Amino acid sequence: MKKLMSMTLIAAMTMSLAACGSSSSGDGGEDAGASSGKKYIVATDTVFAPFEFTDESNQFVGIDVDILAAVAADQGFEYELQPLGFDAAVASLESGQSDAVIAGMSITEERQQKYDFSDAYFDSYVCMAVAEDGDIKSYDDLKGKTIAAKTGTQGSLCAESLKGKYGFDVQYFDESSLMYQDVVTGNSLACFEDQPVMAYGISQGNGLKIVTEEKENFSTPYGFAVMKGENAELLEMFNAGLANIIENGTYDEIVAKYTSAE
Ligand code: GLN
Repeated sequence: MKKLMSMTLIAAMTMSLAACGSSSSGDGGEDAGASSGKKYIVATDTVFAPFEFTDESNQFVGIDVDILAAVAADQGFEYELQPLGFDAAVASLESGQSDAVIAGMSITEERQQKYDFSDAYFDSYVCMAVAEDGDIKSYDDLKGKTIAAKTGTQGSLCAESLKGKYGFDVQYFDESSLMYQDVVTGNSLACFEDQPVMAYGISQGNGLKIVTEEKENFSTPYGFAVMKGENAELLEMFNAGLANIIENGTYDEIVAKYTSAE
C-alpha cells in the first residue's frame, strides 16, 4: 500500500515536472534564444566517438552533437558547433572565441574553479588500453617505456599521477585517434583514455584492449561548460533542455543510437 502511494506520488510529480518543463521551454525560446538572434558558438572535440566524430557519410555526429541539437531545439536557441580538438576547444572558451564547450568534458573540482558546468549528462572514468595482441598487463610492465596521453585531459592527469611510481614517459597527442595509432604501431606501449570512448573504439576494431581501470580517482561525469559567471542564460537553457530530453525519452534514444550493438 505504501509502495503504491509513493508510486502515485512519483507519477504525479513527474507529470507536474513535465508540465512546467514544456512551459518554461516555450518561454526560454522566446526571450533568450531565437528572438534575440544570438547564435552561441559551442566548441567541441574532433575525434571522440561516440560523443563526436565524422561518420561514413562524412557527417559530424555523436552523443554530444545530438544532445546539443535536441537541447537547442527544445529551448529555441541557435548555435554553431565548432570541432576544434579537446585542448583547443577549452582554449577557445578561455579566450572568449566560443561561448561553451561540449566535448565529453569531465566535471572536476579543479575545473569548477574556472568554469560553470551543466548538470552531468554521462558517467565516465579513465582506463588504460594496450595493443590487443600484446602482453602488457599492468603498470608494472611499463618501466622505462613510453605511453601516450591526450593533451589537457583527465587521461593525461592520470598518466602523470602514475608515471613517477611506475617509471614511464608520457608522449602527448592532440587527437585520440593519433594516440591509439601510436599504440597500435608500438611506439607507445599504452594509452590513457575515457572508458566509454575506449570501449566504443574497441567495439569498432581499433586494435586495442583495456587492461586497467581508474574508477576510484578518475571517475568524472561529463558536463557542458561555460566560463565561470558568463553565459548563465545559456547554461540555464542547457540544464532545462537536458531535463526535458531526459524526461521525454530523447536522451535515451540518442545514447542508444550510438552505443547499442548493431
Ligand atoms: N573527459 C576527458 C576530459 O575532460 C577527455 C575529454 C576529451 O578528450 N574530449 O578531460
